[in-house]
Amino acid sequence: TEKNRDGYVPLYDAFERFYSCYVYRRVKDCWNRPICSVPSDTLVLKDRITNDYGWTFEFTGTRTKCINLGSYNYLGFAQNSGPCAEDSIQAIGKYGISTSSTRRELGTNTLHNELEVLTAQFLGAEDAIVFGMGFATNALNLPSLISPGCLVVSDEKNHASIILGLRLSGATVKVYEHNNMKSLEQVIEKSIVNGQTLNGKPWKKILIILEGVFSMEGSIVKLPEIVDIKKKYGTYIYLDEAHSVGATGPNGRGITDYYGIDPKDIDIMMGTFTKSFGSAGGYIAGSKNLIDYLRTNSHAHCYASSMAPAVAQQILTSMKIIMGLDGTDEGKQRIDQLARNTRYFRKRLAQIGVITYGHEDSPVVPMLVYLFSKIGAVVRTLTKRKIAVVGAGFPATPIMEGRIRFCLSAAHTREQLDYFLQAIDEIGSTLGLKYSRKPQDAE
Ligand code: PMP
Repeated sequence: TEKNRDGYVPLYDAFERFYSCYVYRRVKDCWNRPICSVPSDTLVLKDRITNDYGWTFEFTGTRTKCINLGSYNYLGFAQNSGPCAEDSIQAIGKYGISTSSTRRELGTNTLHNELEVLTAQFLGAEDAIVFGMGFATNALNLPSLISPGCLVVSDEKNHASIILGLRLSGATVKVYEHNNMKSLEQVIEKSIVNGQTLNGKPWKKILIILEGVFSMEGSIVKLPEIVDIKKKYGTYIYLDEAHSVGATGPNGRGITDYYGIDPKDIDIMMGTFTKSFGSAGGYIAGSKNLIDYLRTNSHAHCYASSMAPAVAQQILTSMKIIMGLDGTDEGKQRIDQLARNTRYFRKRLAQIGVITYGHEDSPVVPMLVYLFSKIGAVVRTLTKRKIAVVGAGFPATPIMEGRIRFCLSAAHTREQLDYFLQAIDEIGSTLGLKYSRKPQDAE
């Protein structure tokens, strides 16, 4: 390994190589920008001074209020007023901020128990367990469920938290083409010659792992086919619903609700509370046996401090609203509003002529800019027009598929969406984003 001038192997070698990539320098100012408001339909960005290369010199005292098309606030529960905020503030008054302990020690608050019962009821599962962080729910529970000798068949677009969990588990991982059922079956068939064999030994178990709504693609998993494949080959399914729970299905219960599939067909239902519930943390729902097993074997349960009580309260209150347990139809209205906003937004973007990925019912809407260096240009131009968006590029996406990822919300008004759509229509030609426009359609 190369040593630096002082004779040390650099600590951050891999990072430095990526960091010094010329394209990264050009988009550096598009990330890590401090916000100083609640991330709802609007947010307030702290302004900063950058040079032509995107290097930040200083943060200024000024702030810009922007329309927020970047935060994961699907049902608009990221608010600092209303029932969720009021209940959470009360929970802080009652329980303080931190549990100061792990779930297994003195860190199980009554709100955790209440939340687990409600989550299981909401998802139609026998039981559920909740964790303080969504990322850790994947990364730290997968190693409890699979080990060397197990086969995992994983969608190529799965999230980093899944990939980390799979690596930590030591299981054999084979990747199939994104949402491609033929490729999935081929991978399984190639891996189980003469029954289930690995060098003559049977696989301990086979797990298919995927997301409900894919976080960078906006695609919706083909769950009915996956369930058929599971039954055909006797595998298990692990479904990450980070972006689909709350945001899809007529009752907001996620992808099983969307397709009308029996939740019991999904062995491990994982999701996060960071998106549709305006809170933080993650859950796993499934059979009573599975959840009992995790209560004694999950590193995230046994060795990490538990979810803050006020965070649990935010989820409880928003989940009750989604389920209509507050005695109103507000939850249903939010779900329907998100679906209307999503379809309108996607339809208008297609008319404008930009290229988007994903399913028409997915509130995650990636708009392709392709070139890494264009990400910065689009993010900066939109920020100047008081619109906050998220740019995504390599390594989160393939190197030539840079994109701007929008997340829609029930909280967005038609006026806000139209303001953005007009802006993208105006800047789209200058920045060369209207890839799908035929020459005769051009202005
Ligand atoms: N799974 C998926 C599919 C995600 O997109 C994310 C984060 N966006 C996570 C897990 C991690 O969740 P969290 O941000 O709640 O830690």
